[in-house]
Amino acid sequence: MLYIACLYFKKIKMKELPKAYSSQEYEDFIYQTWETLGLFTPEVNTGKKPFSISMPPPNATGTLHLGHATMLAIEDIMIRYKRMCGYSVLWLPGTDHASIATQNKVEKIIAEEGLTRHDLGRKKFLDRVHKFVADSQSIIRNQVRKMGASCDWSRERYTLDEGLSEAVTEAFIKMYHDGVIYRGNRIVNWCPRCSSTLADDEVEYREEKAKFYYFKYGPVIIGTARPETKFLDKIIVVHPDDKRYKKYIGKEMEVEWIEGNITAKFIADNAADPEFGSGAMTITPAHSFVDFEIAKKHKLEIVQIIDEKGNLTSSAGEFAGKNAYEAREAIVEKLRKKGLVEKIDENYIHKLSVCYRCGSTIEPLVSKQWFIDVNKKVINEGKSKKSIKEKAVSVVKNGEIEIIPKRFNKTYFHWMENLRDWCISRQIWFGHRIPVYYCEKDNNGCGEIIISKDAPKKCPKCGNVKLKQDPDTLDTWFSSGLWTFSTLGWPEKTDELKHFHPTSVMETGYDILFFWVARMIIMSTYHLNEIPFKTVYLHGLVRDKQGRKMSKSLGNGIDPLDMISKYGADAVRLSLIVGATPGNDIRLYEEKIAGFRNFVNKIWNASRFALMNLNEEDLKAEIDLKNLNSADKWILTRTQNLIKKITKDMETHKYSEAGNILYDFIWLEFCDWYLEMSKVKLNPGVLIYVLKTILKLLHPFIPFVTEVLWKNTGSKNMLIIEDWPEFKKEYIFRNEEKKINIIMDIITAIRSIRAEYKVDPTRKIEAVIYSEEHLEVLHEKKEILEKMAGLKDIQIQNKGKPISKSASKVIQGVEIFLPLDALIDLEKEKERLYKEIKSEEEIISFLEKKLDNQGFVRNAPKDVVKREMEKLEISLINLKKLEQKLKGL
Ligand SMILES: [Zn+2]
Ligand SMILES: [Zn+2]
Repeated sequence: MLYIACLYFKKIKMKELPKAYSSQEYEDFIYQTWETLGLFTPEVNTGKKPFSISMPPPNATGTLHLGHATMLAIEDIMIRYKRMCGYSVLWLPGTDHASIATQNKVEKIIAEEGLTRHDLGRKKFLDRVHKFVADSQSIIRNQVRKMGASCDWSRERYTLDEGLSEAVTEAFIKMYHDGVIYRGNRIVNWCPRCSSTLADDEVEYREEKAKFYYFKYGPVIIGTARPETKFLDKIIVVHPDDKRYKKYIGKEMEVEWIEGNITAKFIADNAADPEFGSGAMTITPAHSFVDFEIAKKHKLEIVQIIDEKGNLTSSAGEFAGKNAYEAREAIVEKLRKKGLVEKIDENYIHKLSVCYRCGSTIEPLVSKQWFIDVNKKVINEGKSKKSIKEKAVSVVKNGEIEIIPKRFNKTYFHWMENLRDWCISRQIWFGHRIPVYYCEKDNNGCGEIIISKDAPKKCPKCGNVKLKQDPDTLDTWFSSGLWTFSTLGWPEKTDELKHFHPTSVMETGYDILFFWVARMIIMSTYHLNEIPFKTVYLHGLVRDKQGRKMSKSLGNGIDPLDMISKYGADAVRLSLIVGATPGNDIRLYEEKIAGFRNFVNKIWNASRFALMNLNEEDLKAEIDLKNLNSADKWILTRTQNLIKKITKDMETHKYSEAGNILYDFIWLEFCDWYLEMSKVKLNPGVLIYVLKTILKLLHPFIPFVTEVLWKNTGSKNMLIIEDWPEFKKEYIFRNEEKKINIIMDIITAIRSIRAEYKVDPTRKIEAVIYSEEHLEVLHEKKEILEKMAGLKDIQIQNKGKPISKSASKVIQGVEIFLPLDALIDLEKEKERLYKEIKSEEEIISFLEKKLDNQGFVRNAPKDVVKREMEKLEISLINLKKLEQKLKGL
């Protein structure tokens, strides 16, 4: 450790800073120093207030993309800021095993070797997966470090590590005994490709044009987009108030159908819409969520038509065993021959459900799975009980959890209120195995279900030793739902859990509000009776320059790591922060990152200039309040304003705004004004104070370059653990602030006149300035005026006559005259003006002719005519101005 510290000191403390900042030279080294010195690791019981963030765990298989980079940049700003404010700060990193995604990836890899997971068997396949995960994890860790994320690696977790797996089992068992987890036959989203169930929100929708079929079914016409599911439709549902069908309700009748006659029955239910089609519908309970609910309500039989492979079951008669989609046309053809096809609508817009992982069409089907009951009243709340769904809604409604931006409250409530029982079993091998053992009858057992942390040796009821563990694993979101507290040692009551939970902020992309954020709220309020985090900060998606999503197929993606090696992590971080507001997408492109690299260089150069003018003694100089000139007082005041504003922005999560303000302050007030003024008269105490303050305020945004510069300001500590700047009332000088602002306004005005007359920047010009009120400061700052506005021989008087043949301007009562012959060569200028007048006159005559032409005015589009008229108006104004100018000469 000591060795690293010495190395750090040697490497970045320089006698003279090099002209250009090279991020590559310092970044890795500085990160390593921070980490080795243990500066990311908080102490738990020091009496300091806690601030904690659970880092959203990237998938253990992936590589870092821009979404992660954004997350890391924002969270690191929060973390570094709070650390500097003196909090005990924990940012806990980790990775998610992402069962479906990871298993798919490894399946693709072994497919290239001509193998399937079944060829390898469960154990060998999982060995391959674990090896693959270990490799990716070390890549991800390295990438997170490249971004400068100051997270506590000593507490890194993985959703499948031992402790977290124990937490998962514990959570399952508790929920099972509370009756919240149950096993049942329910309809689920099934992906035939992945051979697994999917959660409702893992299903994506794609609109496509499809056929919509109308069939004669006994006395009614029924409509469907999926004839292949209709073999056993036997129930005709009509609205109870529908007069057309009243006489049929409760009756049975023989109906001719796909595989011969079947007995159909009419039932009444509000689910039937009398306005839609014929007002009557048949139901397919095994393959439609809506129909399933109706069937359960009326206690109807539920029979599977399509199996887990997407093939038709024996219920489909002669079509049994065929792929459901491929059989569709043949089924319709059969019905047509029977004269049962009423019509086919070819332009039906169908919302197709597809798997979010592999894109295959989702098959809703009934299956025996494990579910979490979201409506059972199990959470004690005073005298009453709440369901996990009600509880999750109430903690956001009552403000315990704040979502930023607020507008996402509405989407959160909408999603929660429509939440169905959550199917948590997956037919995936990679993941947390369900801790359930069956004493199966066909294994000479008694049918007992045993819930157990460890594999039981025998059935507690009948003593049978041939027990079989449930082959399924748990939904990934089940374990990541525990993330905020399982990572802190739960179910043990650790000091970390007590100190850092509830965590302070959950910062993540708005696209996983439901997948993950909502589930963490459910799991934490249920298991700990405590919210998982106080604030949810949602960032937007990163898009390309034209606002398109970045994707492999468009080839418009940007690899954050390429950008880091090219422009430095600081520039990449700024480009993801500045211009981004919570919940809104941002655009990113290389030029933008390059622009921020220039800004980082500007900071380097400004600091370098300041440091070059300070010797070892100066670096230790303090501010002497008795020895300040008005420029010093001005910059001290401006710096206090800056501290106040940035601190407020940090507290209210306005990082983009803070970034912009810092950018402007450094670019304009510090570099353009103060450093320029310092060239005239330098006050080391003030300069080093302002420079250090800026570096501190910038540190959370651009930690690397500020740390390098910091070391060169003669400070002992590393910047990362320095105190956040304090607002100091004694450094506020409103009068001087005003005075210098006037000088700045005068300089700006003179510069703009010079620009207007195209005066060579090196040419010094004379000036006459009148002012009663500001006479004193004008005299005091004469030298600065001369230097910064390029003046010589300034005459400053309280009043006087206007100077003829001069350019003039009045700024806050100060009259400025710049004699024209000093600005320009009069004859040349006259000639130039004649030329400009002539060309303006030509434009006017051309436009007038055009607008006199009735044909043009009548036939051209209105906005074209309008534009031409506007052009004419502008030219007329220009002409007038030019003529006046000429007259003035
Ligand atoms: Zn799939
Ligand atoms: Zn048994």
